[in-house]
Amino acid sequence: METGSRLPLRVMKFGGTSVGNAERVRTVARSLADHAREATLAVVVSAMGGVTEMLIRAAHAATRGDEHRWKAVGQGLAQRHREVAEQLLPASEQAAVLPWLGEQLRTFENLCVGFSLVREVTPRSMDSLSSLGEVMAAALLAATLRGQGIPALAVDTAEIIVTDDHFGNASPLFEETNARTRERLRPLLEQGIIPVVTGFRGATRDAICTTLGRGASDYTATILGAALDADEIWIWTDVDGVMTADPRLVPEAKVIPEISYRESMELSFFGAKVLHSKAIQPAMKKGIPVWIKNSFNPSCPGTKIGASAVGRPGVRAITSVSKAKLFTVSGDESLGFARLAAKVFGSVSLDDIPSLMVTQSSAENVLCFAVHESDGPRVRARLEKALELEMRHDYVAAIEIMPQGGVVVALGEKMKGTPGIAGRLFGALGRCGINVIVIAQGSSELSISFAVKSADVPQAIRTIHEEFQLGRLAR
Ligand code: ADP
Ligand code: ASP
Ligand code: MG
Repeated sequence: METGSRLPLRVMKFGGTSVGNAERVRTVARSLADHAREATLAVVVSAMGGVTEMLIRAAHAATRGDEHRWKAVGQGLAQRHREVAEQLLPASEQAAVLPWLGEQLRTFENLCVGFSLVREVTPRSMDSLSSLGEVMAAALLAATLRGQGIPALAVDTAEIIVTDDHFGNASPLFEETNARTRERLRPLLEQGIIPVVTGFRGATRDAICTTLGRGASDYTATILGAALDADEIWIWTDVDGVMTADPRLVPEAKVIPEISYRESMELSFFGAKVLHSKAIQPAMKKGIPVWIKNSFNPSCPGTKIGASAVGRPGVRAITSVSKAKLFTVSGDESLGFARLAAKVFGSVSLDDIPSLMVTQSSAENVLCFAVHESDGPRVRARLEKALELEMRHDYVAAIEIMPQGGVVVALGEKMKGTPGIAGRLFGALGRCGINVIVIAQGSSELSISFAVKSADVPQAIRTIHEEFQLGRLAR
């Protein structure tokens, strides 16, 4: 750390529920005041809970010409943010923040008027609108801290996170991002000012606003943490840590005190919303520990995510993507399996579409893979285009798509070398009559994934949770 202080540098990210209303913002500001005594802090904040949804809904209403609807959303946004300012800020801060909030709401209106005129919202303009919640939340939290006598400054990541122009799901250009982050944030940290940074947002080299994908404020925190060589990254959310399963699906799920980077990456890639799927990468590269903590229950230690594989052997957690599409491509033997696979994944890679699982039968020349349901139409179009000639000449027999599938994943670093896990897992599913459609096990043996009907996903998760007794104290 090079902040000129001997205190550790901690990046702290607060999710939408943690700053959902004035009371929550007050609580967060108070806890930051305490933490600031023991660490140098950089704060990342998401939009107030539900605000991003509201903004996206307003944009769609505008494209339908539903002025009544988007204006109602605008009023709701104005009320929620003004309420925080009026309840938490001293008069001097209010005098600056309230007119500024008015300006953000005018930007919202101008964008919605534009969308309703052209009856369209492009991914590019959607990013400018959908990330306004982060801009407002950062300004309010920074002002609240200043109101408590703690030096703080709102910083817009559009100034520091430089991305490609993949609007809606942009990727950071790390060299530039790291340089700008250090240049902008280090002087603040050295002066004892807490930067309160917008999550989710970035901008292209031409300063056009982008977003890093839904739920990506976690990623913002780790990007900044890595750029600043932080000692720790703390992600504050609304659960006690990473749990053995989504607590909404399995009420008996338990907090896992410590998990590895690889386990948490696998969990988040396969749908565990508690962490954005890309968030671990920057922290892992720098070996920075990431803590998941509950802002509603701050005395709970939470989960530490780090390099080493700790905990019990066997299955440690279960996750799922409940809406997936399964594609099966069968090729004539003259086509050769490697060529078939190259064509299929070559076409899918053009859109950077992630595959959730892949299985193959080389002898029969059949390739099966699953993607998120929302990616299904694009994958289908890509495959039909790439394989058009082969299909016309009957070299490729079919592109079958199984509707309403789901992918369930059981994972644990120490599954490797623990015999009998697959047998127990599928035996338990068989006993409760769940039909498994496809199975894949990574060669790293970090996880076993399988596809079932969407409707069977919750039962499959509960069955495995029970079979491996994950509801007992997690280790
Ligand atoms: P935030 O607004 O703080 O970013 P999110 O809603 O994005 O919070 O993520 C937290 C939610 O993730 C929890 O409320 C929980 O329902 C869900 N979740 C899914 N899988 C898991 C898991 N394995 N462990 C903990 N939480 C999980
Ligand atoms: N506010 C953004 C979203 O709802 C980013 C985040 O919450 O992490 O997707
Ligand atoms: Mg989140």
